[in-house]
Amino acid sequence: MTKYTPKERVYTPKERLYRVLKKQEFDRMPAVCFTQTATVEQMEAVDIFWPEANEEPELIAGLAEAAHTVAGYEAVRVPFDITAEAEYFGCEIKPGTKVQQPSVIGHTIANLDDLEKHKEIKFGGDTRCDRIIESIKILAEKYGDELPIIGSMIGPFSLAQHLNGDNWFMGIMMDDPVAEPLINHTTDFCIKYAEEMVKAGADTIVIIDPTASYELLGADFYNKFAVPYHKRIVEAMNKHDVPVVLHICGDTTKGIGLMDSAGVHGISVDQKVNIKEAVANAENAVIIGNVDPVQVLWKGTPEQIKEASQKAFDEGAKIIAPGCGIVSATPTENLKAIVQFAKDHKY
Ligand SMILES: [Zn+2]
Repeated sequence: MTKYTPKERVYTPKERLYRVLKKQEFDRMPAVCFTQTATVEQMEAVDIFWPEANEEPELIAGLAEAAHTVAGYEAVRVPFDITAEAEYFGCEIKPGTKVQQPSVIGHTIANLDDLEKHKEIKFGGDTRCDRIIESIKILAEKYGDELPIIGSMIGPFSLAQHLNGDNWFMGIMMDDPVAEPLINHTTDFCIKYAEEMVKAGADTIVIIDPTASYELLGADFYNKFAVPYHKRIVEAMNKHDVPVVLHICGDTTKGIGLMDSAGVHGISVDQKVNIKEAVANAENAVIIGNVDPVQVLWKGTPEQIKEASQKAFDEGAKIIAPGCGIVSATPTENLKAIVQFAKDHKY
């Protein structure tokens, strides 16, 4: 017996993404990317380039917009790197270039005394985090009714590592007295930052916590140093009805159940992850991924991108997206192929 469906509802991209992440009925795959979206071809098309595009609200918004206007993504997402938060805490940053994101090279919190000096969390000034918040206002004003406005930030674990430096991993394993207070503080920071982004118009929050990887930490340490902190961010965002997507690098296949236990709505997985196993172990979250950003999305052909997307889709990924940040040299033609794949896939 065929089920009669009244005239099929078509959702806006904003509604569509919300509904997929909230596991409500939806029409087709959202064409979105939760990791960084900028490429040199997009920069050339809108005449806004890194590294300046990491700094000023209008430029951040202008280049974020290119993912939509040039590549066809049905969302806009800021920023393009994960160092603004460490910069907020005074860490020394190696500036980025036209093709490379900035990176953290100096660290500011080695012990409890240092932490005490960095206790105050305040937005509304002129830090780069404040300017990213401003860029969200610009994008929300222009696209807020139609497109998802995705605010991305580094996760509390990787931020603590940026602040603490090379000692971080040893510190958590050896019960360094600064470890727990520091990650508690980076979590407080992440919650306040995410709340400011939401106030500015973000409707989806992405936590990029690259080094909080099950592959590096194992179950016990992941459970102790990642889950409770991610959970606090999710709970804060649930109060605003804002879905949260978690991206962690590496082979997190065996850790998906734990990642999922934080209550996140989406888990964005690396190309190393076995999608079938990930889907089987995620009770709450939809699995997002995992087209190889280097070998396939950058160096491959549109045909190879279609094949890799189909494979992830057949294995159960709900949203087909890059397994990590898009490489800045990626051709627009290739991004259009992954976007088209999403647009062609109904459920
Ligand atoms: Zn990654």
